Amino acid sequence: MTLALSIAEIRQAATTIAPHVCRTPLRVSSGLSQYNGAEVLLKLETMQNTGAFKLRGATNKLLSLDDAERSAGVIAVSTGNHGRGVAFAAAKLGLHAVVCMSELVPTVKVEAIRALGAEMVITGKSQDEAEETALAMIAELGLVYVSPFDDRHVIAGQGTIGLELMAAVPALDTIIVPVSGGGLIGGISVAAKALRPDVRIVGVTMDRGAAMYESIKAGKPVQVEEMVSLADSLGGGIGSNNRYTFDLVHALVDDMVLVTEAQIADAMAWLYWNERIVAEGAGAVGVAALLNGFAGGGRTVAIVSGCNVDMADFTEIVRERAP
Ligand SMILES: *Cc1c(COP(=O)(O)O)cnc(C)c1O
Repeated sequence: MTLALSIAEIRQAATTIAPHVCRTPLRVSSGLSQYNGAEVLLKLETMQNTGAFKLRGATNKLLSLDDAERSAGVIAVSTGNHGRGVAFAAAKLGLHAVVCMSELVPTVKVEAIRALGAEMVITGKSQDEAEETALAMIAELGLVYVSPFDDRHVIAGQGTIGLELMAAVPALDTIIVPVSGGGLIGGISVAAKALRPDVRIVGVTMDRGAAMYESIKAGKPVQVEEMVSLADSLGGGIGSNNRYTFDLVHALVDDMVLVTEAQIADAMAWLYWNERIVAEGAGAVGVAALLNGFAGGGRTVAIVSGCNVDMADFTEIVRERAP
């Protein structure tokens, strides 16, 4: 079977982005190791610049552009971590970045990305309408579109996490990865399985609007209704013209599991009280799966993918669940 992406591209990405991203900590969790009956380590992308792994893919994409593309600048549609990643990388590399959002996105999120230096375009009543505006700006201004997941440079950037794990953890049995569009799990899977073909990859997502899960079940990309979730960074579809991530997940991911809102909230509180880690809902889904016996097996790494959560909401969640 030939995959659309090779480990060589991920190795290249690792070299390219090294000056701009953190090699994040990988920490043993003794509590989760006890649950699992074998060592569990947490890969803390919560400690990445911008508070989430998306900076890796965005940086690799921006560094792949030629001179004409660099001077045209880049554009992204995002309400959160992808927008932060693109804005941060663009500022670091001296490119102009535009981030489009709908009028429904809370001001705090808009301001967080504007503060990183991006031009904010607030338009329409939905993410789809924001996308239409982005397409019009691309046609008019020649800006380069940066996909949040379905782009080979983006996937290769996220895959650098897989290289870091394989270098740091001997005899790794299972990797647990949060899933939305599938760029993160796709990239990690290519790197990990190239180096250790029998490693098990488990994807985790919320049971409310799980686009990749439903698509894999149906054998083709399908649309799901978007619902409010604590794991807001996992919302959105995989695109009906999905180019890379559906095939990568289909070929390389061994298992997909769903977690409930209550399990996500409990996992956020568990990480806080037991490990002193602040994770957003999307970042905690892997730990939620472990705490409920849905994943793990042998020496396991769970990716804690981000920490960008409203702190008023977060403190309420953890306070209600104080041990
Ligand atoms: C985007 C995101 C994910 C999912 O990544 P995909 O590549 O879309 O599957 C997981 N966690 C966080 C915090 C994210 O921002």
